[in-house]
Amino acid sequence: MRQSQLFTKVSRELPKDETSYNAQILIRAGFVDKLAAGIYTYLPFGLKVLNKISNIIREEMEAIGGQEILMPGLTPKENWETTGRWEKFDALFRLKGGDEREYALGATHEEVVTPLAQKHTFSYKELPFAVYQIQTKFRNELRAKAGLIRGREFLMKDLYSFHADEEDLNRYYKIAQKAYFRVFERVGLLDRTYLTFASGGAFSRYSHEFQTVTEAGEDTIYICDDCQLAVNAEIIDEQPNCPNCEKKELREAGAVEVGNIFKLRSRFSEAFDFYYTNEAGERKIVEMGCYGMGPSRLLGTVVEVHHDDRGIIWPEAVAPFKIHLLSLAARPDDRVSEAANKLYVELVNSQVEVLYDDRNGLSAGEKFAAADLIGCPIRLVVSEKTLAQKKVEIKKRNSAKVEFVDLDRVVRVLGNQATR
Ligand code: ATP
Ligand code: MG
Repeated sequence: MRQSQLFTKVSRELPKDETSYNAQILIRAGFVDKLAAGIYTYLPFGLKVLNKISNIIREEMEAIGGQEILMPGLTPKENWETTGRWEKFDALFRLKGGDEREYALGATHEEVVTPLAQKHTFSYKELPFAVYQIQTKFRNELRAKAGLIRGREFLMKDLYSFHADEEDLNRYYKIAQKAYFRVFERVGLLDRTYLTFASGGAFSRYSHEFQTVTEAGEDTIYICDDCQLAVNAEIIDEQPNCPNCEKKELREAGAVEVGNIFKLRSRFSEAFDFYYTNEAGERKIVEMGCYGMGPSRLLGTVVEVHHDDRGIIWPEAVAPFKIHLLSLAARPDDRVSEAANKLYVELVNSQVEVLYDDRNGLSAGEKFAAADLIGCPIRLVVSEKTLAQKKVEIKKRNSAKVEFVDLDRVVRVLGNQATR
C-alpha cells in the first residue's frame, strides 16, 4: 500500500473525550476513527489488524470442529422472552420495528442459536457439534471509556457447543480452553493471560475467563504464580485461595477479560424445550457450552501491552504490514525515488506485506516518527546515503539496532523473515 494514496492521515487531532491509551494511539496512527463513545470505524490499517486477529481465531475454532455461520444482528423479542432475558439483560438495545413488533440488537446469541440447533438435532446421532460466528454485537454499556476494550458496538467471536451429556460437555470445554490459549499465543498475549475462575451462575460453579494483565484493565484478578491461574475479584470472598493448590498468597493485578467460556448446561435448552432421543429411546435434555472472545477487544489489548512512548509495536502475526518501506527521496523523480519504487514493486511481487511511505515533502524525521507510531515490525529506509553504498537500511521496531543489507539481496532476506 502506498501511503501517498491513503485517504487517512496520521497525527490528526484527538477527540477531546477520548481518555483511553489504546483508542488515542489508534486514532493518531490512523487505525480507527471515533464516531461516538464506544463506537468506532475501522480504517484501512485497523481493519487489516482486526481481520488478522479474526482469522487467527477462525483457524483455531475450525481446528476444534467449529462450523462457521453468521446469525442475524436483529433478533425478535419473542426469543428473548422465551429465556426471560428481554427484561433481565440490562445492556440490551431494544427497538420497535415498523410492523409494531419489537426487536433487540444482538448482544449475544443463545436466543438465536438454541432454536437453530434444535431444528437440526433429533437424536444422539447428531451430537455433539459446535457452531460459531464472528459478528458485530451491540451492548448499551454504561461505561464506554476503555476505547476498543469496551465498545457499544464491537466484534465478538461466539461459539456454542451441543452435547448429549455433561461428561461430553466437560470434555469439549477443556479442548476449547486449549484453543483459547493458542489464540493468545499467536496474537502475542500468552505470557500475561491467565485462566481465571469467575462466577458460574445457577448452572455451574464457575465460569472461566481469560484475563490479560495490563493497567488498562477494568477487572481485578488474584493470580497464583505457582499454578498460573487466577480468581476474579467478584468471587474472591467465596474463593480466597488458588482453586488448584489452595495457596493463600495471591497477587492482585488489573486485567482485561479477553475471553469467557461458560458451561450453560441446560439453561437455554430447557427454555426452548430442546431435547433429543438417546440410544435407549429416552428423551434427554441437550447440554450446551458457550465460548466468547472479542477480536476488537483483543486489538485494543494488544496495543495496551505492546507499545513504547513513540507508538505501537505490533507482534508480527497481527501487524497491519510486515514491512514499512520509507523513501527519503528529495524529489519524486530522483534516483532514490526510483530505487525505492523498484524495491516496493519487488516486495509486493514476492507477496510481502509492505506499507510504502512514498509521500513527498516530508522530512526524514517526520517519516521516522510516523513509522514508529504505526508500528510495523520491520522498517526499511532508502536514502541518498544508503544508495551510495547500494544498500538499504533495515531496523526492527522492537530493537534499536540498525543494519544495512545489499539492495539486490533485501527481497530474499525479507522473504525468508516474513515466512518464518
Ligand atoms: P465484561 O465482563 O467485560 O463486560 P462480558 O462478561 O459481558 O464482558 P461476554 O458476554 O462473556 O462478556 O462476551 C464475550 C467476550 O466478548 C468477552 O470476553 C470480550 O472479549 C468481548 N466483549 C464483551 N463485551 C465487550 C465490549 N463491550 N466491547 C468489546 N468486547 C467485548
Ligand atoms: Mg465477564
